[in-house]
Amino acid sequence: MKLEGLHHITMITGDARATVDFYADLLGLRLVKKTVNFDAPEAYHLYFGDEQGSPGSILTWFEFAGAQPGTAGAGMVHTLQLGVRAPAALEFWEARLGAAGHATERTPDGLAFRDHDGLRLELVVDADGPELRAEHPDVPVEHALLGMRGARAYAGRALDADRALLTETLGFTETGEGAYLVEGGDQRFRWAYDVATARGRQGAGTVHHIAWHARDADHVAWQERAARAGMRVTPVIDRDYFDAIYFQQPQGILFEIATTSPGFAVDEDPRHLGEALRLPRQHERLRPQLERILAPIDNTRTAGATPAG
Ligand code: ZN
Repeated sequence: MKLEGLHHITMITGDARATVDFYADLLGLRLVKKTVNFDAPEAYHLYFGDEQGSPGSILTWFEFAGAQPGTAGAGMVHTLQLGVRAPAALEFWEARLGAAGHATERTPDGLAFRDHDGLRLELVVDADGPELRAEHPDVPVEHALLGMRGARAYAGRALDADRALLTETLGFTETGEGAYLVEGGDQRFRWAYDVATARGRQGAGTVHHIAWHARDADHVAWQERAARAGMRVTPVIDRDYFDAIYFQQPQGILFEIATTSPGFAVDEDPRHLGEALRLPRQHERLRPQLERILAPIDNTRTAGATPAG
């Protein structure tokens, strides 16, 4: 039994509309689902990804309107890494981000910058690997973002505090001190720790949890395996677009394991993903109130940017 790599990463924002401006309009990802936080339905939950909303491409945000900026510290993810095909893409993004007023910085692996909430992102060159891209009229196909390639976190305890969990229980490969590779399907995802210099504070621009991708048929076995490793695992929770289990791992980071199915096209035409506000069945009766509370978000794809057919 092997994980299939990353499923999604979920962040917090104080401003859902600014998040759409940054990730859909500027970075060219597709807003693939506009729904609410199932546990707090007065808050948006937005999903961005490639054209299909494939696992491995998905970044999601809970909007807690007016949330104060947070800072990443011990036991928190601090950088998300997205793939591009070639070094020329770094030049394209350097120019495009710069023109939009976002400072960028060359790193040994690529190009780093921060989003509107201060979350650190890094584009890394990956010559092969999956092409989980979305279509955007201003982003040439050869420069498009290709999905998640890695994430870095500040260790909450010693760098090796979760080594046994990662390698023996979850099947990650250790590649260095506090550095791991998750390989599954055609995905290679790097997961690494840095030594924390400060305590963090959860808030806008911080990561809420990271979800690994499991085959549907293996999901319950992963739950049992995590429990056997001493994790306090939740029951299987139906998140409408996938099933999920959660546990806090020894570094203090919230891990989720999510299934492939049913996916984001379960309640919308694949050509119109993310256009209508979708509510989980248990909250559908709240629709009139929620439509009043939630500030409308325009999906730029609705306005005719969708290719014919
Ligand atoms: Zn999640």
